[in-house]
Amino acid sequence: MYQHDSLLLAPGPTTVPREILERMNLPMTGHRTKEFSQIIHQASRDLQIIFGAKHPVAILTSSGTSALEAAMVNTVNPEDDIVIIVSGAFGDRFRKIASSYPFNAHIFEVEWGKGVDLEEFETYLNSLNVDIKAVFTQFCETSTSVKHPIHELGKLVKTFNPNTYFVVDGVSIIGAVQVDMEKDHIDVLVSGSQKAIMLPPGAAFVAYNDRAIERFKEVTTSRFYLDLNKYITSLNDDSTPFTPAVSLIRGVQAYCDLISEEKFENTIKRHEVCKTAVRESLKALDMELLVEDQFASPTVTAFVPNKNEVKQIKDELLSRFNITIAGGQQHLKGTILRVGHMGKVSPNDMLQFISALEVILTEIREESVLGKGVTKFQEVVNQYV
Ligand SMILES: *Cc1c(COP(=O)(O)O)cnc(C)c1O
Repeated sequence: MYQHDSLLLAPGPTTVPREILERMNLPMTGHRTKEFSQIIHQASRDLQIIFGAKHPVAILTSSGTSALEAAMVNTVNPEDDIVIIVSGAFGDRFRKIASSYPFNAHIFEVEWGKGVDLEEFETYLNSLNVDIKAVFTQFCETSTSVKHPIHELGKLVKTFNPNTYFVVDGVSIIGAVQVDMEKDHIDVLVSGSQKAIMLPPGAAFVAYNDRAIERFKEVTTSRFYLDLNKYITSLNDDSTPFTPAVSLIRGVQAYCDLISEEKFENTIKRHEVCKTAVRESLKALDMELLVEDQFASPTVTAFVPNKNEVKQIKDELLSRFNITIAGGQQHLKGTILRVGHMGKVSPNDMLQFISALEVILTEIREESVLGKGVTKFQEVVNQYV
């Protein structure tokens, strides 16, 4: 038996490029130094292009969920009515956060694997007959690999009521998609470090617009560590309110350097190519996809093998090929598999996954599928050259 290099294709954490790891290993520096002021100044501004933000992006020392909670407790007052779009496990997380506070959350349920239907959502908003303070949604619902139509949703929310805040969880897609907070009508946009931004876990990001800055100031919901006013005030001073994850913030700088070298539009294109090539080759292998093309995320793809194939595919990818993918969450556990294609991935990496899958499927199905997916993959990649 010979060894394969490990290929981490889970929808987070993702592979951290060597350039980022090296930058993170620089000697520690104090966070109240001139050196660190320069680091946080640059990192918070370099992230603006990734988030399509007009203000420096706040960096929290905690996982993505903290940014979801921060976005909510800084935008919503006790007794406010809010709407949460729940289309999977992470929408459910927004729901659980809301239920820990005295907020009136109205849940718009979307069948797992489907994108939001705009007409149905509009009807729902109108049916509530209350003053909706904010609407919360995922950009990409990682548990199902759906990308929601964020631009159209933002427009709909603002047409419904220009005073309603639109809060978006972009944890698994920011860094892989074109976004413009102003054009897309997003007031607060959050993300985490360990997905498309290809850093180790441990940092979370909050981007906000002018309206959100004003709103954070007037909201009275009880909060301390996650009080975004503290982070914004500190950023104006090129600092952070508490000891930050210095190494991770250095990592952010290295990440932004890599993206500026590649050019962000090429980063986005690379994700699109990986998505399309993976989806088309899975189809060529007679694999059902959970999500229709229209709502397919550029960062993760969920597919539905036969019931008896699910465990074997995931286990053998790891044991024989050293490739890690993910299973389903909650009621989709044991039904779907999810392959991530975000961060430091190229079509070449995804080709390894497809080719390993062919070997495994050929054994399971007792009929050769060798070359079927790979051929399709190369046809798709060729179209993009
Ligand atoms: C991963 C993820 C989160 C949660 O992030 P943690 O870092 O695990 O707290 C939230 N939302 C989405 C869409 C995610 O993919």
